Amino acid sequence: MSQDYHRSPEDRRRRQRYLRKKKQRRNRRRLFYILCLLLLFLVFTAFRGIRTRLANKSNLEANVALWYYQQMLREDKGQVDRSNVSYLNPLDLANIGRDKLTTFGYDLVKGSNHIKSAEKYAYDTKKIQEIIREKRDYTGKKLVFLTFDDGPNNKITPQILDRLKERGVHATFFLVGNHLTDKHEDVLRRILREGHGIATHSLTHNYKKLYPGRVGNAKQIAYEAKKAEEYLQEYFGPDFSCGVWRYPGGHQSWKGLENGPDQALEKLGATWIDWNCLVGDAQPRSDRPTTSQGQVDYVNKSLHQNKQTKVAVVLAHDADNKQLTADSLDMVIDYFEENGYSFGILK
Ligand SMILES: [Zn+2]
Repeated sequence: MSQDYHRSPEDRRRRQRYLRKKKQRRNRRRLFYILCLLLLFLVFTAFRGIRTRLANKSNLEANVALWYYQQMLREDKGQVDRSNVSYLNPLDLANIGRDKLTTFGYDLVKGSNHIKSAEKYAYDTKKIQEIIREKRDYTGKKLVFLTFDDGPNNKITPQILDRLKERGVHATFFLVGNHLTDKHEDVLRRILREGHGIATHSLTHNYKKLYPGRVGNAKQIAYEAKKAEEYLQEYFGPDFSCGVWRYPGGHQSWKGLENGPDQALEKLGATWIDWNCLVGDAQPRSDRPTTSQGQVDYVNKSLHQNKQTKVAVVLAHDADNKQLTADSLDMVIDYFEENGYSFGILK
């Protein structure tokens, strides 16, 4: 045996082999640890996902049960007229429960007045306002914005919603703040859930308060716009923001709105908009249509008083005495469809 075996070439090769194998073993071990960690991570993520889903499911069920119970109490007190409310199918019930639970957090376009699925047909109010005032040119496709003022209520608003749902058409609802009570909560939620736009239309709808001596009172108008939005946020959460306002009676009817009130609204992030055609359901009796065909004729006549007719903002009302408006809606939708208009909402 050589004393100096460390230096023998045979031994050096053996040692190199040994070192190579050691390195390979180390690498395999590292790979094994990494795979273990990855597996652990996957198991943990899957477990968390399942747990969250189960929790949501049981929360949803509890919430639906709670909602049902509250609804029964309200019906007992005569606060809800079931005859015109069509949310009895289980899917609507489940949606209402989920909406209550999450205040639409999962589905609302943050800082807006509509849900994500409505984004593709939501149009900027300022632009539409300028187009219908003929202060801005428009060369795009024909657009119609159905707007309903003075709701919500449990009589006409649900009928309008049913009709819109059946026809796959969307609209913008200009709501009166003082109507935003628990009594109208379900119909209010339906408006947002079913892909419509929500706008405000003052708190009181009181001309004397809003326009004393027919002149707009900026302070009162700003107060009512802010309050109405706060009421909506109570139902839809702090991420809800309205941004669309219609002056009761219309901007065109009052004095001094350019000197204060309009700017006050702007400060609140809201844009006012009137209309450029109407079904005539709030005209003086002598001029008010009494049939559905009459409402369609009114729309056609008023629309063609404008120079541009490619963008139509239609004034209608869903106050609880506007049965004819609900009954005529199908024919009004037919009119715009036959004339090649697409339906949009205001954001
Ligand atoms: Zn009104």
